[in-house]
Amino acid sequence: MTSIKQEAQRCLKCKVPQCAAHCPVSTEIPRVVELFLSGEIKKAGELLFMNNPLSAVTSVICPHERNCTGHCVLGRKGTSVEFYRIEEYISRFYLETLEIPDIPKNGIKIAVAGAGPAGITMSLLLLLKGYDVTLFEAQDNIGGVLRYGIPPFRLPRDLLDMYKDVMLRMGIHFRPNTRIGANIMIEDLFPDGYKAVFVSTGTGRPNKLGLLGETLGHVHFAVDYLKSPEAFDLGHQVAIVGAGNVAIDAARTAIRRGHSHVTILHFMGEENMTANRDEVEMAELDGVEFVHYAQVIRIMEDRVRCVRVRKIEKEDGSAEFEEDYSETFDVPADSVIIAIGQGPGADIRSAGVKLTQRGLFDVNEWGETGTPGVFAAGDIVSGPKTVVDAVAFTKKVFARMEEYLKGCGQA
Ligand SMILES: Cc1cc2nc3c(=O)[nH]c(=O)nc-3n(C[C@H](O)[C@H](O)[C@H](O)COP(=O)(O)OP(=O)(O)OC[C@H]3O[C@@H](n4cnc5c(N)ncnc54)[C@H](O)[C@@H]3O)c2cc1C
Repeated sequence: MTSIKQEAQRCLKCKVPQCAAHCPVSTEIPRVVELFLSGEIKKAGELLFMNNPLSAVTSVICPHERNCTGHCVLGRKGTSVEFYRIEEYISRFYLETLEIPDIPKNGIKIAVAGAGPAGITMSLLLLLKGYDVTLFEAQDNIGGVLRYGIPPFRLPRDLLDMYKDVMLRMGIHFRPNTRIGANIMIEDLFPDGYKAVFVSTGTGRPNKLGLLGETLGHVHFAVDYLKSPEAFDLGHQVAIVGAGNVAIDAARTAIRRGHSHVTILHFMGEENMTANRDEVEMAELDGVEFVHYAQVIRIMEDRVRCVRVRKIEKEDGSAEFEEDYSETFDVPADSVIIAIGQGPGADIRSAGVKLTQRGLFDVNEWGETGTPGVFAAGDIVSGPKTVVDAVAFTKKVFARMEEYLKGCGQA
């Protein structure tokens, strides 16, 4: 593997950099590389942080092959520059050495509900501008999926502790174990002096299969499992239903916890998997078995019953998938983990804000809900997406929130 300095030296600093054009937060990659090579690491870190406060996280877990790395011109004939490795070093160093600037407070109180990537990004943007931020979080710590979903072997937890420390040093008020929509409602916040509310409560409620056997004692949802894998006794044979990133994380975690045989059941082919290619590869290396074209139709005490799915190629190049009930087969399972997507929690859905058909917050392109002063971003708006997408939209919402506050004579 090349050193990060060698990687930076390979960068062509293109006039129209395709890496930056395909970065959801438009990171100024050639400029960062330039600063890095001239030894101005802190300046490079500041540039990254001010553009994307979560760059220390996204550099580690972004789907790079779809964004910067996947669009590097060097990749057309050879090997792309792995900018994310350079970014990870710079961003981490920046966080580790960050001296909190003296920011004059403006006395305007803003409530943020949900301390995942969107909530952390919004909180930091507000704190940097001197707002008085209170962050309400249902769990006992910040991070959202970064702490309670993505396994530690993919994302070191000390990064999240550093973010928490930075926010606390910047003067945030943190209310852990507090669920907005349960005891405190959105409308309770305005009488207490909050001038705006930002909702970023994510999509933590797992979708269910709707099949017989789903309530049995050995059946679990992947997002519940990933919260605290040590609480689950899965036995030797684990069957995982679903083939996205969440399924892969559950499978790789189960293998690491000594569950010897982990099988992923997927109703389409390998090429249709939504999980990142490199994650699938890593899961294969870990020893996870993949069974494609298998539709689960029933969960039993010690097995999962599947029906074979046939792929029908159409003339226009598209494909359809059809269950063939003449071929059923059983996969032995001491436990079953369901990973077929998530939706927003019930409490926040009853927050009095207009919802889409999927139960997500119905916002305009600036993250404004129909309720004045209430904004939203992250998965609660887009449905399950990525961290960098949550950051990108939160930045847009922040700009609008400031305009709103100015309009009310606040900012
Ligand atoms: C297992 C898994 C692996 C993933 N892997 C990747 C990856 O590798 N790369 C990538 O870019 N993306 C990945 N994603 C997607 C990414 O994590 C999400 O897109 C991102 O976390 C969305 O951020 P968010 O802030 O909107 O929501 P979340 O991260 O879900 O945070 C929402 C927060 O709100 C809190 N909350 C919920 N309800 C309430 C309430 N009523 N009151 C107060 N607080 C509340 C929750 O406890 C949580 O802390 C993964 C997702 C999962 C589930």
